[in-house]
Amino acid sequence: MKALITGIAPDSIAAEVGIESGDYLLSINGHRIYDVLDYQFYAQEDYMILEIEKARGEVWSIEIEKDYDEDLGLAFDELVFDRIKSCRNRCVFCFVDQLPRKMRKTLYVKDDDYRLSFLTGNFITLSNLNEKDWQKITGMRLSPLYISIHCLRPELRAEIMGNAKAAHIKEDLQRLQEAGIEVHTQVVLCPGINDGEVLDETIAGLADLFPMVRSIGIVPVGLTGHRDKLTNLRAFTSTEASDLVKMISVRQREFRKRFKTGFIYLADEFFILSGLNIPPARYYDDYCQVENGIGLARILLDEFAALEKLLPDRISPREVYLVTGVSALRVLQDIVNRLDLIKGLKAELVPVNNRFFGGNVTVTGLLTGRDIIAALGDKKGMAVVLPGVLLKHSSSMLLDDISIEDIERETGARISITDGSARSLVEAVLGQTL
Ligand code: SF4
Repeated sequence: MKALITGIAPDSIAAEVGIESGDYLLSINGHRIYDVLDYQFYAQEDYMILEIEKARGEVWSIEIEKDYDEDLGLAFDELVFDRIKSCRNRCVFCFVDQLPRKMRKTLYVKDDDYRLSFLTGNFITLSNLNEKDWQKITGMRLSPLYISIHCLRPELRAEIMGNAKAAHIKEDLQRLQEAGIEVHTQVVLCPGINDGEVLDETIAGLADLFPMVRSIGIVPVGLTGHRDKLTNLRAFTSTEASDLVKMISVRQREFRKRFKTGFIYLADEFFILSGLNIPPARYYDDYCQVENGIGLARILLDEFAALEKLLPDRISPREVYLVTGVSALRVLQDIVNRLDLIKGLKAELVPVNNRFFGGNVTVTGLLTGRDIIAALGDKKGMAVVLPGVLLKHSSSMLLDDISIEDIERETGARISITDGSARSLVEAVLGQTL
């Protein structure tokens, strides 16, 4: 385990002492560097001995004196230099267990790494932590963390997660509270398993820990058509989603009086499934759960509303097709209807059924190239807009390793990619900047 240095800031201390991109950082003051957290923590000191392995293999020991907190100027591509910590659970709803076979190996990785929770907002379960991990979390004050709760009943949580250690969630939360660490939490809601009374208890228990528990995000279980030999689960019905939306709105109003914040937020999918309107921005407060798919629809609608005054009355004749997952259809339809009023423009949505994953998977981010090609059909010379969320790690590849170029070749379309913002969507549809 060693940290590959991939960049050196110009005129930095690192540049001055001869450290180069391609060298490895081994230790700082004798502490091995397992991740960027270690680097940031130990590199604050005003005096240090850096152990650097040069690209040619020789090891340098470099003595540095600097101001406390002054940056050394090292950059890394990776956040974690040893192995990413994987989960020890067998959750009944685990999406990885429901993936079709023969996909890219990286898609089957079940990460559950507290470092990525702090650094990038990944949800973790706390059930794989050893004492050394706890010491690092509390010693470095890694706050806030993002925790998957699912429920607070010990036996039920252990059963849902297929791991006896998952039963200790209340003790784990208490330990975080004593260390002054705040958490955002999520519940993956499965009808008949952790909804109803169980959900009431979960909400009440987490609310008792406010303000250490900053928020609860509730997302629906995602079920693909590949659930061979897995626990029998079902998706929410539209009526159940509607009841949940109403119940959570009542709880939110109570929390607003009690905590001056909504505290609990439902995933966009529940509103879409229920047929109820996407709530206004105030429902989401500071959008603290947006990475969890909570509030994205409202952000898009509000961004679009702000751009409306910039829309042209007419453009040169143009026919455009917008690819979307089925769940975003209703939200996008209002936007496309408004754009369609522009003279010269013919804009049309192309909802794509996710045959690759099957089941109730309707989100845009999980569409595959083959399903998109089938839905588009022949679009020779036509403009097609694809959301960038379909692409993995800034590449041009989709989940099934079909590329944008493959889609263009198969359909004859001219494809533009959007970045998820309303401005990017509108500009791609119009074929011009606003
Ligand atoms: S924590 Fe559960 S849902 Fe997440 S990867 Fe592990 S088994 Fe799957």
